[in-house]
Amino acid sequence: MIKLVIASNNKGKIREYRQLLEPLGYDAVSQSEAGIHLEAEETGNTFAENAAIKARAIKDLAEGCAVLADDSGLAVDALGGEPGIYSARYGGLDTDEERTALLLKNLEGVEDSRRTAHFVCCIHFIRENGEEIMAEGKVSGHIGHEPVGENGFGYDPVFMYEGRSFAQHSAEFKNKVSHRAKALEHLMEQLEKI
Ligand code: IMP
Repeated sequence: MIKLVIASNNKGKIREYRQLLEPLGYDAVSQSEAGIHLEAEETGNTFAENAAIKARAIKDLAEGCAVLADDSGLAVDALGGEPGIYSARYGGLDTDEERTALLLKNLEGVEDSRRTAHFVCCIHFIRENGEEIMAEGKVSGHIGHEPVGENGFGYDPVFMYEGRSFAQHSAEFKNKVSHRAKALEHLMEQLEKI
């Protein structure tokens, strides 16, 4: 097995990556399990740049291991792609509820047909030999008028997809159609060819 360090300490994310990458010969651990205590500054202008910055910072400290980092967020067309790479810190606000409320406020008066949006996820994978592989996934929907549903996190309660919000869909369904699932599928396709 090749040791794979995931540039995150999010338990849900690590579990998902571990399950999917184990059959390809990777033993995935979180960065803290690998003894790496580092939070790289996300100074890039795109999701792809930020994922690459995080992956390369960890790779420098994880000699001989493979590394995976991801970056994701929500892009709303009527807001010129905002909150985008600032999704986790939109408006400098601390909670998902506050950020979602700000998004709805900024869309006040915008009619349904112009409330289109998509989630994006970029994965940056660095093989143990240093080769870099990038993969992106997207899911399109539109922004509702109030938060609905109890599942998920972040902007899920206002992201409408096939008639319901991502927070109303089951985790199982979201994990099949989400930007993260799509990015991971694209990564797996490339890893399977190696
Ligand atoms: P990351 O963990 O640096 O990729 O930050 C992603 C941010 O984008 C999160 O804090 C959320 O605000 C938002 N986001 C990313 N993916 C999702 C999702 O699947 N549902 C809801 N919000 C998401």
